[in-house]
Amino acid sequence: MPIPVPRLARRAWTAAGAVCALALSLLVAVPASGSAAASGCQVDYTVNEWTGGYTAELRVTNAGPALSDWRVTWTYEGDQHVTSAWNAAVTQTGHTVTAVNTAWNGALATGGTVGFGVQGTSGAGGPVPTGFALNGVSCGGDTTTPPTTPPPTTPPTTPPSAECGGAVVCDDFENQAGSVPAGDWKFTAPDCQGTGTAAVDTDIAHSGTRSLRLDGKAGYCNHAFVASTADLSSVGPVLYVRMWVRHTTALPAAHVAFVSMPDSSQGGKALRIGGQNGALQWNRESDDATLPAQSPTGVGLSRPLPTGTWQCLRFAVDTSAPGLDTWLDDEQVPGLHADGVPTRDIDDQWLSRTTPPRPTALRLGWESYGTGDDTLWFDDVAVGSSPVGC
Ligand code: CA
Repeated sequence: MPIPVPRLARRAWTAAGAVCALALSLLVAVPASGSAAASGCQVDYTVNEWTGGYTAELRVTNAGPALSDWRVTWTYEGDQHVTSAWNAAVTQTGHTVTAVNTAWNGALATGGTVGFGVQGTSGAGGPVPTGFALNGVSCGGDTTTPPTTPPPTTPPTTPPSAECGGAVVCDDFENQAGSVPAGDWKFTAPDCQGTGTAAVDTDIAHSGTRSLRLDGKAGYCNHAFVASTADLSSVGPVLYVRMWVRHTTALPAAHVAFVSMPDSSQGGKALRIGGQNGALQWNRESDDATLPAQSPTGVGLSRPLPTGTWQCLRFAVDTSAPGLDTWLDDEQVPGLHADGVPTRDIDDQWLSRTTPPRPTALRLGWESYGTGDDTLWFDDVAVGSSPVGC
């Protein structure tokens, strides 16, 4: 699921100010002036920024003669620096970036569009890039202009409703009368049990006065989870999960997990959300694949899980095709996104397995494979076949 972003020049800053989605469209027809090269081009540059990094998708439409090879250049006014790219070979010298076609996407007809993307580092973010050119011919001025084409059909990024009344799981834990989880939830230690514990907490809650509390301990044999009794095996084709989670200790360098879903496509082994190298990650138990890849770039494209505050974690697992998306407080996390196109440092390893996941149950808790004690609370958990918001 791509991030729907309007093509109009727009900045949508979050409350935290840490991430913005920005798109601009340049549409300028440059007179041919007898040039044999491109005589005009349109560039849609759609960027998602966060503190320290960004990804950008570019769509370049050729308004000039047909091309057999293309080269797109632009200039960063800020400190953006490209570290990798897809569907183009991209280099940066100083502030100037050059993207050249791959062996298979060089042909660009008149009116044709080619798409490629970059990811990079950015200390303070920066203004939108300028000076776009196709094969050395400027795409026009540096001012942003509204597109003259009709508005895109992509929907706005309005988060879904937080109501979960029709979902298979929709639980605020207010009906948990005892001190240990009961009813629709039960304690489980899938592999081996140690000193980790689960409880119903009446002091800390996101809603009402009750939540689930897990005291997770380091070491492999301290699995401690609370499992929903709901059968999720027919939820789909996209399985949506929303939960509020709070914890006390920053995610460690070692691998940990706090959401574990038995996955029938892995013979019952689990699809897991946890952390590694201090940031959130997905992990597939059967082959230990991670999303994102645990390279510095990949980890930088994920996020830490803030401590001491309730966080809204949402994810969407496509059970019929490659597709996995994750939102933390309504911000999509670029490193926790898998689709059908392998992207270096993100999902190229993850897509080594082509069978889509088929989660059958939901377990919330803690497992650690090294260091890492943590205390976690879960509240307002929903699972269904349509999105549930924060
Ligand atoms: Ca509650």
